[in-house]
Amino acid sequence: MTIKFYNSLTNQKEDFVPIREGEVGMYVCGMTVYDNCHLGHARAMMAFDILARYLRYQGYKLNFTRNITDIDDKIIDRANENQETIDDLTERTIASMHEDFLKLGLDLPTNEPRATDHIEGMINMISKLIEKGHAYHSEGGDVFFAVRTFPEYGKLSNKNIDDLNPGSRVEEDGSKKDPLDFVLWKSAKQNEPSWDSPWGLGRPGWHIECSVMSLENLGKHFDIHGGGPDLLFPHHENEIAQSECASEHKFANYWMHSGLLKINGEKMSKSLGNFAMLKDLFTSYHPEVIRYYLISSHYRSSLNFDNESLDQARSALTRLYQAVSLAPSKESDFHDDSVKEFIDSMNDDLNTPEALSILFRLAKSINSCQDTHDQMMYASTMRELGKVLGLLNDSPEAFFQYGANLTDEEISKKIEERNQARDTKDFQKADQIRDELAAQGILLDDSSDGTTWKKS
Ligand code: ZN
Repeated sequence: MTIKFYNSLTNQKEDFVPIREGEVGMYVCGMTVYDNCHLGHARAMMAFDILARYLRYQGYKLNFTRNITDIDDKIIDRANENQETIDDLTERTIASMHEDFLKLGLDLPTNEPRATDHIEGMINMISKLIEKGHAYHSEGGDVFFAVRTFPEYGKLSNKNIDDLNPGSRVEEDGSKKDPLDFVLWKSAKQNEPSWDSPWGLGRPGWHIECSVMSLENLGKHFDIHGGGPDLLFPHHENEIAQSECASEHKFANYWMHSGLLKINGEKMSKSLGNFAMLKDLFTSYHPEVIRYYLISSHYRSSLNFDNESLDQARSALTRLYQAVSLAPSKESDFHDDSVKEFIDSMNDDLNTPEALSILFRLAKSINSCQDTHDQMMYASTMRELGKVLGLLNDSPEAFFQYGANLTDEEISKKIEERNQARDTKDFQKADQIRDELAAQGILLDDSSDGTTWKKS
């Protein structure tokens, strides 16, 4: 069975056929570096980490390019706010991002280009677009892309040029010839970083960055372009317009987008102050718990994060680690049927929830079988498949002990919750709480006098 991906360009699942046999070129829009990463960033990055891992597992030679946007209005504003230089802000933020991503087990991309290292390429592409009549230098000094010169504009987002409402989407700008046009080069304002260009001092617009960094790392035509859900329009639509007009060639074959992440049913936003920052989550949860949580839903589905999400993920992952810890940790053969079913699930547009269910079945087999050789085989298969998903990489002991610093009060509260669950015959929840506590080294002892606990 071949791999099938949902292609946002055609709105359907398609067989994946790479341009060059055995090789894949993939570009993913990376971070704009002005603040630490939150769970929404992790969700998008995780989707493409799983994709990258799976393509490599399937034997593809992968060129995975993920950019860093290190010049942008938000960066300039934040540096001013913090009274620090843009370089200091971006270097610090990039280091923090690398630290978070490493903890989450996000494999490093093959290339991680930074926008400010590709200004010359951007100037070249803009010049080419002007030459071909797709862009113009306005009276105000900025250079704009003329959207109506690209009849296919809207093909990714399924929008018709004439239905676009520029008033709500595009900032009105007196020097544009058409309100739909978007900026390629912004003329320099005072106290802003700028580069010399044929249109005077200035800096690139955001969209042109990705068109150029993908061109310089993957060529004009490559296999997969991905990003978070908010990038589909206008960012990716604009990338297509720029790239295809400049190269007169198809840009990316497959467009893939991760789903939304909401927090307590609301969009993450500054005004609501509901950003789940990764560094905060790491203080209580093993990074694999966060990874497990993110991949326990399909990458395209809408995900709602609430207070219980990570506790549930932790107790689920604890069950897998408990099973692995029962089997002698020696290498063994694999359970071929499970491997095959795992591959079938992943081939189906990276169905990670189904792939995880195969790990749980293996865990059940370990728990119920007596034969050491079989246990080893199930455990080896679990570790092997876990590795493809970036799970079960830690030792069970280290996993169980992670964040094991509950206060007596917190433990009593958990026991009380468990008692309530048992009273209402919600034994699944009761067991989940027991597992959760066990994961943190807290063992419960039920007797006729009630429940006591001790540290393992
Ligand atoms: Zn981009």
